[in-house]
This record gives sequence, C-alpha cells and structure tokens, in this order.
Amino acid sequence: MKPGSVQLGLAGALIGSLAVISVLALMITGLVPPVIGMGLILFHAVAVLVLLRMVRRDTRGLLSFAERLAETPTAQTAPVMGSAVANDIAQAMARAHQLWLDRDDADVRRAAAAEAVLETLHDPLILLNDARDVLRANQAARSLLGERMVGRDLAGTLRNPTLLEAVDAVLAGGASRTVEVLLPVPVERTLEARVKPFRPAGADQPLQVLLTLHDVTVLKRSEQMRADFVANASHELRTPLAALIGFIETLRGPAKDDRAAHEKFLGIMFDQANRMSRLVNDLMSLSRIEMDEHSPPTGAVDVARIVRNLAVTLEMRAASRKVKLRVDSPDSLPLVVGDEDQLSQVFQNLIDNAIKYGKEQTEVTVTLSANDPAGGGSAAARALAGRGTRGPSITVAVTDRGEGIARTHLPRLTERFYRVDPARSRALGGTGLGLAIVKHIVNRHRGRLIIDSEVGKGSTFTVLLPAMAGTGGEIPAQQAG
Ligand code: ADP
Repeated sequence: MKPGSVQLGLAGALIGSLAVISVLALMITGLVPPVIGMGLILFHAVAVLVLLRMVRRDTRGLLSFAERLAETPTAQTAPVMGSAVANDIAQAMARAHQLWLDRDDADVRRAAAAEAVLETLHDPLILLNDARDVLRANQAARSLLGERMVGRDLAGTLRNPTLLEAVDAVLAGGASRTVEVLLPVPVERTLEARVKPFRPAGADQPLQVLLTLHDVTVLKRSEQMRADFVANASHELRTPLAALIGFIETLRGPAKDDRAAHEKFLGIMFDQANRMSRLVNDLMSLSRIEMDEHSPPTGAVDVARIVRNLAVTLEMRAASRKVKLRVDSPDSLPLVVGDEDQLSQVFQNLIDNAIKYGKEQTEVTVTLSANDPAGGGSAAARALAGRGTRGPSITVAVTDRGEGIARTHLPRLTERFYRVDPARSRALGGTGLGLAIVKHIVNRHRGRLIIDSEVGKGSTFTVLLPAMAGTGGEIPAQQAG
C-alpha cells in the first residue's frame, strides 16, 4: 500500500469515528432513538467510503498525469477528474507544463541561432579558459589554425609572443587590447587580434578570454602599395625635374654665352621634359583605367585593323632600331566587345616594348588568330574560363627575339614601376607603367595576358580576348577599316 493511501485511510477513519462517536453520544443521551442512530451511522459509513474512493481515484489520476508530464517533452491534455478541484489542478499542471516547454524551446532555438552565427562568422573567434586552453573555436578559426586546436594551449597553435602576452594580461584582469599578429606560413598574413575578457554566467566562474582575429593583409598591402606608388611616382618625376633645373641654372650662369652648350643642353632638356610628359600621361591613363575597370566595355572592336594601323605608325620606330615588324593575321577574325582606344593602347605598349627590348636586326611578329569555340579544351579556352569567360575568343601574340626575361621577374612584371633593368628602361624612354596599363585594360575586357620568355631567345606577350558572339570570322581582316 502506498503512503498516500495510508493517510487517506487514516483521514477517513478519523472522520468516520468522529461521526460515529457523535451519533452514539446522541443515542446515549436519548436525543436520538437507537434505530435512527444506527441508520445515521450506516449512512455516514457509506458516504465516507464513497468520498474516500473518489479522492483516491483523483489523487492517483493527478499523480500519473504528473509522471506523464515529467516524461513527455510535448504538450499534454489534462485528464477529466472526479472532482472540480482535481480538474482545476490537472488543468493548471497542463498549462505550467506548456509554459515550461515553450521556454525550453525558445532557449534551444536561441542557442542554435547563436551557434549558427558563430560558425558562419567570417572572422576566426576563439574562447579561451583561464589556463589559456582553447575551449571553443568557430569554423573560421578551425580552418585557419587547424581542427586540433580545441582543448590545447593557444601557444601550441599561435606561437606569437605579443598575442600570448596580451591574452595573459587580460586573464590577469587587464583591459581589452588589440595586437597585430604576423602568420608566416603557408602564405604570409597579417591579422589584427582583439583580446577581450569574458565573464561566463555563474557566480564564481573563472575569467575567460574571447579572441577575434581579423585578416588585414589586403589592407596592409594596399596601404604599402599606395605608399610605394607615391614614392615611385615622385622619384620618377623628381629625376627629370632635377635635370631640368640643373640645366636651366647652367644656361643662366656658367654657360650663358656658350652657343654649343645651349644646343646640347636644350636637347637634353627636351628629352627630360618629354620623359616627364610620358610619365604624367601614363599615370593619368592608369588612374582612368583603374576607375572604370569594373564596368565592362560595350563597343565592337576590330582588333586586326588596330594592329595593322599600329604596325604602320610604329614602322619608323622599328626601323630606327633596325627591327622588322611583321603582322600575321588570318583572312577574317571575329570582333571583340571592347574599348577601341584602350585596346589600341594595349597593343601599342606591347609592340613598343618588343621593339625596345628586341635585338637589332631581328623581327617582331604580331600573330592574330581566332580560337574555335567548339574546342573547349584548348589552352586559350582554359585560360579564359579562369576569368569566367566561355565561348569564342581571339589571340594576339607579340613575339620578339630580344634578351628575354628571367623566370623570377615574370610574376612581378605587370606591377607599376617594376623593371628588370631600371637604368636600361629609362634610357629607352620607359616609364615602368606600360605593362601595368596593359594588365588593367585586359582585365576590364575579361581577357588574359600570358607572358612567355626564355633568356637569350626572346619573349612572347599573348593577349586573349573574348570574341563578340555571332561575329565568328565573318569580318574579313583585310577589308575591315
Ligand atoms: P617600361 O616602360 O620600363 O618598358 P613596362 O611596364 O612596359 O615598362 O615593362 C616593365 C618591364 O618589363 C620593363 O622595364 C622590362 O624590364 C620588361 N619588359 C617588358 N617587355 C619586355 C620585352 N618584350 N622583353 C624583355 N623585357 C621586357
């Protein structure tokens, strides 16, 4: 028998005994005749029994309902009870259970949302305990520093003394701080690390540290590039400017009346002024091109015509260096979607370089060809696919038989002011910006620039340009323009 039943039984017996004692007292005093007294006692006994049974059933019902609620994580309807009070208790229990479920659901949803946000954060986020061990690391942190970082001392993953000092200082009660971390491998990267104290919920939980890392490599690099660019441009301008000022002073002073010196110095000044003018023009072109690099051109351009016109214009210059210029073009070539002036500048710079850096008594060849759109596996198609361009394309290859370029220089050749031999470039009138301009224009045309070179043999600068759809070779190159 359950303890609850014993209590109920005792309560029943007590009520029953009280009733029987009262009736017996009445019978003894003669106030109630014995027959009626016995009848009353019997009636009492039956009523108490019925009441007890009902209370016991309701109590058991409530008990089993409470057990069901404790075990089931879903909403439950209250059972129908014998008495109104028990019914109210059951309803109240069902409502309380529902409230608890709702609150629990909201907590679970909130935790899942917070987890998803942390995991999808672009920046690495790491939680450290008071012993500097990694308690948690989001996806970005794990992919940057390795899956095995969790559960280990931060020093095992990020061996940066400045960062570790900052973490220790914050764990010792110091304020938040930001430090710069250099990751040397696999590629050098600069991270900005923010170290913040984090007090977990709970009275005497030890202090933790929240560490966020933000990659500032690109920012740093572009800051450096901007600073280098200004320094380079100033240097390039200062040299001819200093020469001009020097010669002007000489002409006004010691060589004032020297006619021969006048002639000579004015010639040099003219060359220096031209150099400055070329530099300013190239700088302006570059900044214009960079500004509209993200808006693709819309004109229809006949590249074969541009190249033939350039060949005529540059013939004199080629002849002055005893270089023969040859254009090899098929009978017809598709048009390209482009900006005519910019494409003209691309091929002018490339042919000009080929003449400049080619050997005397050699040939510079410009070879044009159309790439078959069906030949999806061709090198040209693969190169352009990397730019997100598919379909027909044209190739323009400018080949010289000059000294060639060592492999180590190739990746940096299109950087502004990068030269293999600065003195030679300047002596030949170069600004160091020609290939940077080419690269930006080709990028704007969603094309590719490929540089092949062999020291001692010469170089080939190949430009791939997406062709205009539906113009696959129907423009005869000889007739166009
Ligand atoms: P520059 O005005 O100096 O010619 P560019 O940007 O056009 O500037 O070229 C950058 C550097 O690339 C040149 O200084 C030169 O060293 C090298 N270069 C460019 N074209 C050729 C080429 N056809 N043959 C050999 N070297 C070249």
